[in-house]
Amino acid sequence: MHELSIALSLVHLAQDAALQAGAVQVKRVQIEVGAMAGVVPEALELGFTIATRETILESAELRVTLVPVVVFCSPCGQEVEPTNSLSICCPLCGTPSDDIRRGQELDLVSLEIVEDPLNPEQPL
Ligand SMILES: [Zn+2]
Repeated sequence: MHELSIALSLVHLAQDAALQAGAVQVKRVQIEVGAMAGVVPEALELGFTIATRETILESAELRVTLVPVVVFCSPCGQEVEPTNSLSICCPLCGTPSDDIRRGQELDLVSLEIVEDPLNPEQPL
């Protein structure tokens, strides 16, 4: 499963960041996934559940924000959002574009961690 290896590296990244921040537990992980990232969010969530076992991310909630595809259309001279992510054409003039500006990312956006019992929540 392609998403499991993505989830594993994501968990690794999040764990490193959380430990550096002095976390004892991670409650929530927020990521941005582009519509063209080639990731099925449901499969990623399943992979995340598997990847977080016996880590400080165990039972953390994964929040996935989907990022729409944005391309640059040179005839229009602006960034546009294609209505169909399968055929990437400008919705204004219909010109196909391969200058993709957004929609391919897979980014760790934020973590909600438990630092210590006296100070339970701190955004990273
Ligand atoms: Zn256009």
